[in-house]
Amino acid sequence: MSRSLADLGWIDFFADHARPFIAAVSEDAQAELEMARVVGVERAAFQVWTAQGSEEALLAGTLRQSASGPPPQPVIGDWLVVHRLPDGQGLRIVHLLPRRTTLARAVNSGLSEQIIAANVDVVFIVTTPGEDFDLPRLGRYVAAVEMSGARPVVLLNKTDLVDDSTWFVEQIGTLAPDLPVHGVAATEDHGLDAVRSYFQRGVTGALIGSSGVGKSTLTNALLGQEVASTGTVRHSDQQGRHTTTGRTLYPLPAGGLLIDNPGLRDIAVWEATRRPAAFEVVEEAAVDCRFRKCTHTTEPGCAVRRAVQQGTITADTLAAYHHAHGLSAPRPKRRE
Ligand code: GDP
Ligand code: ZN
Repeated sequence: MSRSLADLGWIDFFADHARPFIAAVSEDAQAELEMARVVGVERAAFQVWTAQGSEEALLAGTLRQSASGPPPQPVIGDWLVVHRLPDGQGLRIVHLLPRRTTLARAVNSGLSEQIIAANVDVVFIVTTPGEDFDLPRLGRYVAAVEMSGARPVVLLNKTDLVDDSTWFVEQIGTLAPDLPVHGVAATEDHGLDAVRSYFQRGVTGALIGSSGVGKSTLTNALLGQEVASTGTVRHSDQQGRHTTTGRTLYPLPAGGLLIDNPGLRDIAVWEATRRPAAFEVVEEAAVDCRFRKCTHTTEPGCAVRRAVQQGTITADTLAAYHHAHGLSAPRPKRRE
């Protein structure tokens, strides 16, 4: 089945970045270029959608041996320029277009990050009015999603299990101004129209949250078919892993696309996401501390605490930095 590029999430942002690349090649070569979106990744083979349908694409040699830096690694959701080889020889990825949003997780003890998905517009953070409910943790996920460039929306699932979910919804609403919160019950098909309304034509969404909150159930309800195995059928799998197929980006019947990626599913991996970026301001200021090993707690000549006093670094950022490094932050002094 063929879809227009707009159905797949193609917007001016990508067209603007594709134009100079396309203009740089000969007219004959231009005729062989197409736009493609990554919908699945299996080692070096990329399942993509073009306006012609679903196909496999391989990295072109020129991309694999990039002269400047490491070769680009397309991830699910990426937009590519592909070269259609003559005589049905398939597609070669010749250009990776810039990402509008990136969902990454910390790897290597938070020292680096791995991009799991790109160009996700809306991230639904799924929780329940039960054991999973943890407001500070939810707040961190909301912040992480905001930093990714995507729009956070919180879904309070399993509302059928409580008499009144108002308190939970109100609590979540305090996490950020204008944060959308929806009480839903996936197994009862309750509240799902509100969720569906986010999936306008070409909008890409993803569900994240702890294991057991109902992400698979929601996925199946939104897609109107069984693509994700739910908790009820995975007794043999103690680790709760889901069987996965190469493809993890699905079109919704009424428009929009949903990413169901095992790497994204478990929100636990998000805990340390983007920590280095958030603390960059601290590390930059620390260059001017008198002591090289300054912990920015009580040392004299500390440029970081000076920056906090001057208001260029917030006290919250420094407190979070101290917390992350196992240091107890001293109470801020007002006089000096
Ligand atoms: P996942 O690990 O986040 O993908 O969670 P699943 O979709 O596998 O759901 C875990 C369990 O919760 C399953 O037994 C579902 O049937 C159940 N469940 C999902 N949504 C609801 C809901 O709205 N209400 C109730 N009572 N149970 C639900
Ligand atoms: Zn310092």
